[in-house]
Amino acid sequence: MADTREHDLPIAPANKKSGMPASTGTGIKEEPVLEVRDLKKHFPVKKGLLRKTVGHVYAVDGVSFTIGRGETVGLVGESGCGKSTVGRTLLRLVEPTDGQILIDGKDVTRLPREEFRPYRREMQIIFQDPFSSLDPRMTAGQIVSEPLEVHGEGDRASRRERVAELFGRVGLRPQQMDNFPHQFSGGQRQRIGIARALALNPKLIIGDEPVSALDVSIQAQVINILMDLQKDLGLSYLFISHNLAVVEHISHRIAVMYLGRIVEYADKKTIFTAPRHPYTEALLSAVPVPDPSIKRKKLVLDGDVPSPVKPPSGCHFHTRCPIAQPRCKVDSPPLVEKSPGQFAACHFR
Ligand code: SF4
Repeated sequence: MADTREHDLPIAPANKKSGMPASTGTGIKEEPVLEVRDLKKHFPVKKGLLRKTVGHVYAVDGVSFTIGRGETVGLVGESGCGKSTVGRTLLRLVEPTDGQILIDGKDVTRLPREEFRPYRREMQIIFQDPFSSLDPRMTAGQIVSEPLEVHGEGDRASRRERVAELFGRVGLRPQQMDNFPHQFSGGQRQRIGIARALALNPKLIIGDEPVSALDVSIQAQVINILMDLQKDLGLSYLFISHNLAVVEHISHRIAVMYLGRIVEYADKKTIFTAPRHPYTEALLSAVPVPDPSIKRKKLVLDGDVPSPVKPPSGCHFHTRCPIAQPRCKVDSPPLVEKSPGQFAACHFR
């Protein structure tokens, strides 16, 4: 897949409120479509007959980033780092514990459900598993039409017309509208998921591991569809994945998450050529290099991601970091701008 956007990534001045760059992938200076400030989601751990709270899962623990119009931010990290919870919290499928979510500059974090509805339709989600995210009893056309019905859009005939148009947009034939999900391949099912996400003309689509369940060749097709849609419709994406290689092609900027926090955040080129954080380096070392003459040293991290119920003190990464020092155990490194547009949370890099 040829990438034509690698060099058009101007970094706008840091946003004073969040400390994060307010750039857009297009270079147009405008209000970000989405701004996330110090977002937290702590799930209570309850025990005993009285369901007493005995602790918390610190799933998301102070995450800030922005997404501009027509921009894709890749959110990457190992399983259990909190990246999917970020996506669900933005849509308020789970309510945030703290922090702010701004859509087009409007703080929607604590809006009552009814007032949140118009903002919610601006943000849609594509789920990981196209096999379980589509209702097997509904036809593909009904699935794509459902959000239009829920939001009272048009009549039956105009909805059918819109669904046919959406099928065409994602490379499906309108004649397939009356087929059931089991009659489609995995890639086609994910196209149905994309068509459903597009139905209400959203500004932002959150892809929660949208290609992880697909074969590699189909992954490329789905990513290309998403990129074409972005070009045509000016969509913004938050693309969540455990695999740095998957987000490389589609992302303008990449945020790397570890145990509920962003540890590095920069434009794609910087992440891939000059990462700062040892965790980003480790993730990067696992990404295959297409040129066999280039050898990348594989860094294997010891152990699994620690439990978010009891995250390690100081720098959460110190239990696995190859360059950890005594200070790392007691002192939590803030996410700071290390070079223009490159933010990292490490005392020594
Ligand atoms: Fe490693 Fe210490 Fe940097 Fe954390 S602060 S990434 S433990 S060197």
